Amino acid sequence: MDWQKIVIHHTASPTEVRRSGKNVPVTTTMIREWHLSKGWSDIGYHFVIMPDGRCAEGRPLNRPGAHCKVGHRNSIGIGICLVGDFSETEVPEAQLVGLVNKVVQLMVVYRLKLGDVELHRDVFGAVTECPGRYFPADVFRKELEVGMSCS
Ligand SMILES: [Zn+2]
Repeated sequence: MDWQKIVIHHTASPTEVRRSGKNVPVTTTMIREWHLSKGWSDIGYHFVIMPDGRCAEGRPLNRPGAHCKVGHRNSIGIGICLVGDFSETEVPEAQLVGLVNKVVQLMVVYRLKLGDVELHRDVFGAVTECPGRYFPADVFRKELEVGMSCS
């Protein structure tokens, strides 16, 4: 794969679901199940950032994603997804830190620029609010700049 972009998403889901009468946190295993039930081959995202900032691996980076149909982003873009619905709530601080750390790491590895990091809704042709209307786009960009200047 020749990764040229990083595309940021949210699950647009609660962070916990009810399973066998208990509230349990959403995991990559569950997201994989949601995507398999759509007939996809695997989870669509390459990485998932949990509410506490931990990063979990999704689809391996040697395979195209299934996260953004327009602009060839599935084949040129690494898909990163935050668990949560940021059209409903704000992104927890720890989760934003975890996202910034992962994106900076990938930018260094794949020699990407700030302009190569996109929110799903900003990809030309995408018709979505993803990663949610409360996603702090300006703070995210500022923190990426700081992260890149220190790496
Ligand atoms: Zn998205």
